[in-house]
Amino acid sequence: MIRVTENFRKIQDLLAQAAVNAERSRDEIRLLAVTKGKPVECVLEAASAGQRDFGENFVQEGLQKMDEAGRDDLIWHFIGHLQANKTKPVAERFHWVHTVDRLKIAERLSRQRPVYAKDLNICIQVNIDEEAAKAGVPAAEVPQLAQAISELRGLRLRGLMCIPAIRQGFTEQRKPFAKMRMLSESLRESGINTDTLSMGMTADYVAAIHEGATIVRIGTALFGARES
Ligand SMILES: *Cc1c(COP(=O)(O)O)cnc(C)c1O
Repeated sequence: MIRVTENFRKIQDLLAQAAVNAERSRDEIRLLAVTKGKPVECVLEAASAGQRDFGENFVQEGLQKMDEAGRDDLIWHFIGHLQANKTKPVAERFHWVHTVDRLKIAERLSRQRPVYAKDLNICIQVNIDEEAAKAGVPAAEVPQLAQAISELRGLRLRGLMCIPAIRQGFTEQRKPFAKMRMLSESLRESGINTDTLSMGMTADYVAAIHEGATIVRIGTALFGARES
């Protein structure tokens, strides 16, 4: 059994320390607990330690865990690749989608977001290292997509998300996150105000916090390694 409560406390300490070192307020940084591949017990144990935000990569697995958890005080973030034919349950049940990378997906989420629900929070996934095999829009296409999304009903554009290429060392890890920060600033200059940079995972969240991350997505450090 993974010691979720203990790991949760440890991560809270490390986040607080990273915030101090980055001269930022801890309150600006939200911990997203990534539970893909882990049983609902992990969600429940983290929830009883005070965690509220949970990230899932697969639609069916996410929906099943929401049902099994049976709590209405949790905030569910979709962070996997989203196919057009699976947008409906995501629009109906999740609170955030971090991985919008084309207008078609945003338009479907907009149409399918129930009128009685609060706006669905959206991040644009940026392929910050322009890797051929990775999802996300190139940085140059972000302003146009951001503008289009900000006009859609039922959605609230919150910011940008990325999964950079793996790098070793703090200085190297900061580079793609610094690009994300600049991209976010250039959006602001063109009149699109966002408040979210979803970036940093177990291996690189400290570097991300130093470049302005407002959501760090942590799986392994909380719940242990996943079987692949
Ligand atoms: C799996 C995953 C994470 C968590 O990764 P860890 O290295 O286990 O912390 C974060 N973000 C996304 C998009 C993921 O798919």
